Parts: sequence; structure tokens; C-alpha cells
Amino acid sequence: MPTSRGMRWMLCSAFVLTSTPASSQTLDALLTRAERTDFVETSSYEDVMEMAERLAALSDVIHLTTFGETNEGRSLPLLVVGAADASPGAVRATGKTRVYLQGNIHAGEVCGKEALLMLLRDFARGEYPPWTDDLVLLIAPIYNADGNERMSLTNRPRQHGPIGGMGQRPNAQGLDLNRDHMKLDSPEARALVAMMNAYDPHVGIDLHTTNGTRHAYHLTYAPPLHPNTPVSIDAFLRDEWLPQVTRRIKEKHGWDYYYYGNHSSRRPGWYTFDHRPRFNNNYTGLRNRMAILSEAYAYASFEDRVMGTLWFVEEILDFAQEHAEEIRNITDAADRQSVVGQQLATRADFERSREEVTILMGAVQEERHPGTGEVILLRRDVSTPTPMYEYGAFVPTETAVAPQAYYVLPEAADAIERLRAHGVTVVPVTEERRIVVERYQIDSTTVATREFQGHFERTIWGEWIPERVTLPIGTVAVPVDQALGRLAFSLLEPRSDDGFVAWAILDEQIESGVYPVLRVAAR
Ligand SMILES: [Zn+2]
Repeated sequence: MPTSRGMRWMLCSAFVLTSTPASSQTLDALLTRAERTDFVETSSYEDVMEMAERLAALSDVIHLTTFGETNEGRSLPLLVVGAADASPGAVRATGKTRVYLQGNIHAGEVCGKEALLMLLRDFARGEYPPWTDDLVLLIAPIYNADGNERMSLTNRPRQHGPIGGMGQRPNAQGLDLNRDHMKLDSPEARALVAMMNAYDPHVGIDLHTTNGTRHAYHLTYAPPLHPNTPVSIDAFLRDEWLPQVTRRIKEKHGWDYYYYGNHSSRRPGWYTFDHRPRFNNNYTGLRNRMAILSEAYAYASFEDRVMGTLWFVEEILDFAQEHAEEIRNITDAADRQSVVGQQLATRADFERSREEVTILMGAVQEERHPGTGEVILLRRDVSTPTPMYEYGAFVPTETAVAPQAYYVLPEAADAIERLRAHGVTVVPVTEERRIVVERYQIDSTTVATREFQGHFERTIWGEWIPERVTLPIGTVAVPVDQALGRLAFSLLEPRSDDGFVAWAILDEQIESGVYPVLRVAAR
């Protein structure tokens, strides 16, 4: 009931002011701000840091480090469990399967942040299986820390709490961090890819809250959606990992989980979101790593969202432990598999399921936010099986053959710097070389009329023409036969819908009529 929630909120706001020092507190008494306030409030950055420090102090198995700094200078906590210390060297030396878990990329979607802190505490209390026999957990509970501190009662209107307010979606630069994985404009995204390069997690879990459709699922999820994702990773997630987790959640907790989607009368069908690697799960897949996007249902109560996310992560980790070696084998094999000469997607569109599937549609009831009086929505226990086609995967609409190598000319220094930040291997050309390459002859180009994430997105058309050129010193070679070959292709291929062209990073050269990337075709 809204009134009782509101009353509890007022009572609990007073209660949270009384906290005890770390030394006198045991793990049992270590509660998240959400727990302390009966799920009326969510943790501030300070709350998260305090809990992270106490966990590291009270537990021998939890190590606390940082993997970077936000735009406003907040250090990003990373809790490492299952290695001798928190360093990348110690983590990689274990030989175990490394699982990265991230909360709060969108800082109004706070259930992951709370669930991860609860998971850490309960792991330290011995409440879970010995996951760290086979896994190292790398836990970043508060990725968009600056966004978290911009708490407001009016962020994410209509979402059912936390009634005490929540952070904002973008970071302090106004950037959506879940659109920044290719261009890397934010210090947070830079820190994330640096973490990926240093710790090389085999698995990445990114925790969100939904927007939109009123379905009956407590949580929806997605594997990597880019059609260039290694087939082995896609198959493992869709055929084994996600079905097992879904089944076990239903058995243990009675809740339905399913693939993320939206449905409307304007667009009937169950549509997932987007294949482009600007999104975390899609980007992780193009790095040959397993990824799961988690979307707790926005209109479930905040407590249900936290618990639903926690249970999801528990089942994901159980499965990861049961299949730890298999996961490493799949990602290692994907790293060794060259894409040179393969037809890869540069653009893609939804693929319709062969047959209709049954989607559980739901219902909500209106309530009033006790602080603002605005309408918020609460999930009702209604589940209406509804047949419809599913659009849960993508097929290429345009492809190119992955070349042997790209050469990025010195004038594209910005692109070279970003390639290095991604961890893509680049080899500097140290003496002038005359070779036969392909040059992209630009026929035409268009620029978006509206700015998006600080850029006017660009599209170009043209064709690759063989040509003998002298490569100037300062050029870098990017061999495509490398572990990040799929990513390099998506960044450098001119028709890629999420590469340097699309993000207007090569605008200066393109406007002077030159595409500053050459390639050597596959033999
Ligand atoms: Zn989100």
C-alpha cells in the first residue's frame, strides 16, 4: 500500500542516520542502505564505498581496488573475490574463470548496485556455494557513480521506487555510458575497457531496470546481439546458460524471466533493442566474451527488483561454476579463430522468429508517489499468455569481407588513440613502405541533423579500389587476425553502423575527401 510505504519511508529516513563504526560491526549486521530503509532508499556513493571497505576489512576473501575515476574524480570501486589480491596479475594467475558484474551503468536503475552488495556480504558469510573454487568475481557495483549522486525524486518517473529517489541516467558529462563502448568519450568507459584489457573477464554481466512494455516478467535478459558475435558464444548462452537460469528461477522462486523485449500495438511482436556494440552486452560479445544484460522490471516493487536481480546473478554464478572450464574453452577458441576472409555484418536488422512464441503480458496499477504526488506504477500479479512473433536476434543487411589488415594513416591520430584504448593490437609502420592496398573511394556522405551523444552521426557510401601507395611513417597496421579482430572490423570498416565513421571521429579527413584507413584484402 502506498500509505504504509510512505510512512515507512519517513521512519526509515531517521533510522539511517544512526550507523555504527566498522570495527564493531560484523558481517551479519552489515546492511545496504536499501535493506536498512526497508527498500525505500538506495545507496549513495558514500554508502557503497563504506560497505565495500567494511566488506574488505571483515572478510579475508574480498579485496577492494579501483579501476578508474569518474568525470568528477570519484574512484570506481572494484571488489575482487577469489584471488590472492585484487591485482590483475593475481587474478589472471588463478587460471579460474573471471566473471565481471556491473551495477548502475544507468544510475536510476539501482537494483543491481544493491543486489551486488548483498551478494558480496552473503558470500562472505558463507551462504553461497564455493563459487570461488572455480571463479574469480570482479564486482563493480556503482559504475555510473557521478550519475548516482544526482539523486532526485523525479528521475525515472513512473518506476516503482526507490521512493526516496534515485540517480540519473547519464554521467556528469551528460553521456549515456551504455552508448559509449565504441567511441569511448567518457572516463568511465575508458576505465571499463582498461579493466577489460587488464583483467580480461570471460563473462560480463550488466545490470539494469527496464523501460516501457508492461509485461509479466520480473526480469528480462539479453545475450550479445551483434550478428558478428562468435556463434559458439551465442549458442552457449541461448541454448544452455539462459534456459537453465530461467528454469531454476521458476522452480525456486516461481517467477518468470525471459528475453528482453517490447511490444506495442504500433509494432506488434516481441522486439529486443539493438545490435550495435555501443551497448555493453553487444560490445562484450564482439570481444569474444560471454555477456548477459539483465533488466529488472521497472514496475515491480524496488525490493522485488533487487531480489529478482540477486536471484538472477546467483543462478548465473552457479551455472558459471558448473561450466567454468567450458566457458574458458569457448572464449579461448573464439580468440584463436581468425575472421580474415569471412563475410561479416556492417549493418543489421531484426530477424523474425520462424514461429510465434508465447509472451506473458502483464498489468499495472497506479499509485501516488508519497513525496511528489506523481503517478507511479506497480506490477499486478497478472500474466496473460499472448502469441506473437519474436524479433530477438539480428541478421546482416550489409556485409563486407574482413580484410587481412587495415592501415590507419597518421592524420587519423584520434582513431589510433581510441584503437589503443580498446586494447586492439596496432603495429606502427617505422619506415616508408610501398605496397598494394585498397583505398575507400567516397561517393557520398550524409550527416545526421540531430546531435546524439555529442556527435552528429555520419554515413558514407563508396567502394574499395586497389591502389599502390607509400605508407608514411606514423601509419599503424591493424592485423585483423587478432583476438579483437571482430571489434577492429566494426571500428574501421567504413560502412560499419557503429564505427569511427558513424561516430564522426574521422570527419576532418572525410570532409576533405579522404578515408584515412586503407586495407589489405584477404587472400
Ligand atoms: Zn539501463
